[in-house]
Amino acid sequence: MSTEATETGVDEIHILWTSEGMSCDGDTVSVTAASLPSIEDVVLQAVPGIPKVHLHNKVLAYETGDDFLAPFHRAAQGDLGAPFIFVVEGSIPNENIHTGDGYWTAMGNDPETGKPKTLNKWIDELAPKAWAVVAIGTCATYGGIHAMAGNPTGCMGLVDYLGDDFRSAGGLPVVNVPGCPVQPDNFMETLLWVLHQAAGLAPTIPLDEQLRPTWLFGKTVHEGCDRAAYYEQADFAYDYNSPKCQVKIGCWGPVVNCNVTKRGWMDGIGGCPNVGGICIGCTMPGFPDKFMPFMDEPPGGSLSSALLSVYGPFVRRMRSITNKSANTEPQWRHPGPKLTTGYQPRYPRV
Ligand code: SF4
Ligand code: SF4
Repeated sequence: MSTEATETGVDEIHILWTSEGMSCDGDTVSVTAASLPSIEDVVLQAVPGIPKVHLHNKVLAYETGDDFLAPFHRAAQGDLGAPFIFVVEGSIPNENIHTGDGYWTAMGNDPETGKPKTLNKWIDELAPKAWAVVAIGTCATYGGIHAMAGNPTGCMGLVDYLGDDFRSAGGLPVVNVPGCPVQPDNFMETLLWVLHQAAGLAPTIPLDEQLRPTWLFGKTVHEGCDRAAYYEQADFAYDYNSPKCQVKIGCWGPVVNCNVTKRGWMDGIGGCPNVGGICIGCTMPGFPDKFMPFMDEPPGGSLSSALLSVYGPFVRRMRSITNKSANTEPQWRHPGPKLTTGYQPRYPRV
């Protein structure tokens, strides 16, 4: 993906964050656990080089009601006085499928009509004006759980809604940071990159074809999993109390792009398969439908584990023999009266 940013050198910026998509606010809550950097570090400008940040997130804001909504309305009118990053949390419903007068989700009232202003209208107005648009969590990025088969809202991810050709005022496509919820530091690192780019201090953020930051989503869960050695030796868990590889009890790690096994959840602690929870593919565009039922063995898992079963037990046996040897000290380490290390003196003793 290559893009040209059109404006840099920003020294003050707003973050207009709506979680009024089909959302549980879980990504907002998750991000409060970040430390690399923390939200406080960003808002208090503890990170060198970033613009002064004005954060507008309903869960964290001091303002309520109309006071909270005022900067959103000003931004929609092109009257905010500084560039802004538009953060969208939650999937985007299809407001075109109503048979009546209702709406699926809204944020505040539309000053023109006095009626609830749909998230879709906010997106139509704010996304093209935003310096950058960031979709947080799998619902906003790809549709997520709310967009699963059988849902009544016809909801979708932000790029499904805005189109592949969308570019923000800063020249960027939607920046996707998936996860259900998002891993706290994954989001804050991405935000930090965008802030540094807006300040003219970073190149264009590198994104893959699914518009995810490449340094966060370039590897699979399996490639970072502490249990991968068990997998390679065909040593599998058959219940949820085992430290071994969980592919037979539902882990999708080998085919899922996510860094949580490497990174942990908060300060390196926690995670998913690395600490005993199967990976259900919550970062993936195909989530959840393509991974359900979660607690069944993935179809590819039985084939790869069958192939491994040919040499895995043999390799395990060989390693256990070598491990036993490596766990034994050499026999010349003793307090006896004779030196038995094989030492050859360079000059004869006199
Ligand atoms: S638990 Fe999952 S991610 Fe870890 S090694 Fe097994 S299959 Fe791979
Ligand atoms: S390891 Fe799997 S379940 Fe855990 S956050 Fe990553 S994609 Fe989601």
